[in-house]
Amino acid sequence: MTEPRDGLDEDLQIEGLELRRGTRERTRIRTLELPDGSWVEVPLMVVRGSQPGPVFYMGAAIHGDEINGVEILSTVASGVDLEELRGTLLVVPVQNPLAFRIQHRYFLGHMIKSPMDQGAADPWSSFPGDPGGNMAGLIAHALYRRLMEPAGYVMDVHTPTTGGRYAPFAFLPPPRCGAVVQESERMAKAFGVDYILAADSGMYVYGTSPHVVAAEGGKVALGIELGEGGQLDPEEVRWGVRGVTNVLRHVGMLPGSPEPQGRGTVITAMREARASRGGLLHSRVRLNQEVAEGEVLATITNVFGDVVEEVPAPLAGPIVRTVTFPIVATGERVAQIGVPR
Ligand SMILES: [Zn+2]
Repeated sequence: MTEPRDGLDEDLQIEGLELRRGTRERTRIRTLELPDGSWVEVPLMVVRGSQPGPVFYMGAAIHGDEINGVEILSTVASGVDLEELRGTLLVVPVQNPLAFRIQHRYFLGHMIKSPMDQGAADPWSSFPGDPGGNMAGLIAHALYRRLMEPAGYVMDVHTPTTGGRYAPFAFLPPPRCGAVVQESERMAKAFGVDYILAADSGMYVYGTSPHVVAAEGGKVALGIELGEGGQLDPEEVRWGVRGVTNVLRHVGMLPGSPEPQGRGTVITAMREARASRGGLLHSRVRLNQEVAEGEVLATITNVFGDVVEEVPAPLAGPIVRTVTFPIVATGERVAQIGVPR
């Protein structure tokens, strides 16, 4: 159990909601207006425990093809025992409704219509957001200023993007965020994952992603990746529900101890093996398999059925991501290998 952060729920206010102890409320937060006059609203579940305690923000589907997290968070928010809960959960099962409704990572229609205005187009890489910005900036701003900022803990649940599958892993804020990062690592261990990514460079620690901005603001923050984009996987959902419950026990918002799951290997990077030829992809590896340097990860055949490439492992280590797309072009990933700390 860790000490509660700033962000206790006694002075929490959510616009338009009367917050009463021991209740579950559902509402929607307006972010921006569409040309037809309808609003992009993010769904919000406010789960207020019977006893005072921390504010914990949890969000999913900031990329619109990432479905597992939606079910994980709605299951936890609907099922948690209000009598046992200390503090308040702010749960946003769909953080990027525009992308979710087309089941794509990005809100493609707006990007195609207005590529200048809508770049950057990813709310995930637009934190803490901009009230005078484009759609991605406005969505990020609404999430950060109104819901993450009052919280002491932040967890952003992802599903690997369509066409790939990760072993369950957590990603931490980078070391530059200070002592809070160790607390994030303890929270990741409590969740229970196969890999904990403790990187100091690369896309998982960009300064514009929500867990990094939150950690810079002194919050204990974490990202999670579970399953495969474009799929709803009951096994991964069960894993995630157990993981989120574990985290709530770890921070003392629920009684009891975390139930261990996953191998918990800390890695500092993930190295990609990429195809140099195009064709049909025949993967030869499975998640968590330990491969040797040079071992064949995948075979690529051309459309006439000839083997045109055997893709070797660039280094030894565990397979952390496999590719489920059946075809590849030159330069596309075929697998990723973890680099243990
Ligand atoms: Zn994502």
